[in-house]
Amino acid sequence: MRLSTYFLPTLKETPTEAQIASHRLMLRAGMIRQTSAGIYIWLPLGLKVLRNIEQVVREEQNRAGAQELLMPTIQSAELWQESGRYDAYGKEMLRITDRHDREMLYGPTNEEMITDLFRNNIKSYKDLPKLLYHIQWKFRDEIRPRFGVMRGREFLMKDTYSFDLDQERARDSYNKMYVAYLRTFARLGLVAIPVKADTGAIGGDLSHEFQILAETGESTLYYDKAIEGFELDKLTGDIDPETIRQLQSLYAMEEEKHDPANCPVAPEDLRVAKGIEVGHIFYFGTKYSDSMNARVTGPDGNLLTVEMGSYGIGVSRLVGALIEANHDEAGIIWPEAVAPFQVGLVNLRAKDEACTRTSEDLYEKMLRAGIEVLYDDRDVGGGMKFANMDLIGLPWQVVVGPKGLEKGVVEIKNRRTGQREEMAVDEVLNRFAAKA
Ligand code: ATP
Ligand code: MG
Repeated sequence: MRLSTYFLPTLKETPTEAQIASHRLMLRAGMIRQTSAGIYIWLPLGLKVLRNIEQVVREEQNRAGAQELLMPTIQSAELWQESGRYDAYGKEMLRITDRHDREMLYGPTNEEMITDLFRNNIKSYKDLPKLLYHIQWKFRDEIRPRFGVMRGREFLMKDTYSFDLDQERARDSYNKMYVAYLRTFARLGLVAIPVKADTGAIGGDLSHEFQILAETGESTLYYDKAIEGFELDKLTGDIDPETIRQLQSLYAMEEEKHDPANCPVAPEDLRVAKGIEVGHIFYFGTKYSDSMNARVTGPDGNLLTVEMGSYGIGVSRLVGALIEANHDEAGIIWPEAVAPFQVGLVNLRAKDEACTRTSEDLYEKMLRAGIEVLYDDRDVGGGMKFANMDLIGLPWQVVVGPKGLEKGVVEIKNRRTGQREEMAVDEVLNRFAAKA
C-alpha cells in the first residue's frame, strides 16, 4: 500500500476526550473515529488489526473443534421472553419495534438464539457434543461507554456455545475452551491470567475471566505469583492436562471475591494488579436448556436436558488491550502476529532519483514476495515520516536515504527495540521474505 493514496488520517495533537493511551493512540494513528458515544467507524488501518486478531481467535477455535456459523445481530424478543431474560436484561438491551409492531432487539449475546437453533435441529445424544461459535457485533447500551473500543456500546465478540450430554463431558468442553484461550492470548503475545469468576446459581469452579495486566484495567486482581512461572504469553505449543490442572489450582481472584482473612496464599506470594477482561468462559448447566426445552434422547430412549456453557472473547476490546500492553511515548508497537503491515518502507527523499528508484524497486519486489508493506512515498520531510511510522507501530522500518545509497545500503529499524542496522539493498528482500 502506498501511503500517498492510503486513507490514514493521523493526528499530531492528542485528542482531549481520550483518557487512556490505547484510545489516544487509536485516534491519533487513524484507526478509528467515533460516530456516537461508544460507537466507532473502523478505518482501514484499524480494521486490518481487528481482522488479524479475529483470524487468530478463529484459528484457535477451529483447532479446538468448534464450528463457525453466523447468527444475525437483530433478534426477536420472543426467545428472550421464553428464557426469562427479556425483562431481566434491563436498559443495557437496545429494544426495537418493526413495522408490524413486533418487539425486536439488537443482540447483546446469543444464548437464546443458539439454544433455539439447537433444539430445532438436534434430537439425539449421538449428535453431541457440539461446540458452535460466531464472531459478530453486539450492542449493549453501557451506562458509561469509555476508553474507546475497550468499553464500547457496539463491539465485536467471539462467542462459543457448548452442548453436552452430562456434566463430565461439559467439563471436557470447558477445558477445551480453556486451552484454546490460553493459546489464543499467547499467540497475541499477551499474559492473560485466568481468574476465577462467579458461577452464579450453579456453583462449582467452571468460570474464568481472562485478564490482561494493565494499569488502566477496570478490575483489581489478586493472584499467586507462581502463575508468572507459567509464562502465559509463551504457551503456544501443546498444553498438557497437568499444566491445566496446576494452573487451575492456583489462586487468582477479583477484588470483590478476594477475602484476605481466608486467602490460601501467603502475603509475600500474593500479587495485586489491575486487569482488563478480554475473555470469559462459563459453564451454566441447564439454565437455558431447561427453560427453553432443549432436550435430546439418551442411549436408553429417555429425554435428557443438555448441559451448556458459553465462552466469549472481546475481539474489538483486544485491539485496545494490545495497545495498552504494547506502546511507548512515540506510539504503538504491534506484535508481528497482528500488525496491520509487517514493514514500513520509508523513502526519505522523494525528490532524489536514486532514492525513489530504489524504493519503488524494493516496494514492487516486496509485494511480489507477499510481504505486507506500507510504502511512504510522499514528498514530505523525513521527521514527519519517522514520527508517523513510529506512531502507527509497524514492527519493521526500512529507510532508504541518499547517504546510505552511496554505500549501497538502507537502514532497518526494529520498532520495539529501536535497534538500527545497515543492510545491503539486495539483502532486504531475503530478510523479510523469510517471514512472509
Ligand atoms: P464487562 O465486565 O467488562 O462488562 P461482561 O462480563 O459484560 O464484561 P461478557 O458478557 O462475558 O462480558 O462478554 C464477553 C467479552 O466481551 C468480555 O470478556 C469482554 O472482553 C467483551 N466485552 C464485554 N462488554 C464489552 C464492551 N462494552 N465493549 C467491548 N468489549 C466488551
Ligand atoms: Mg458488561
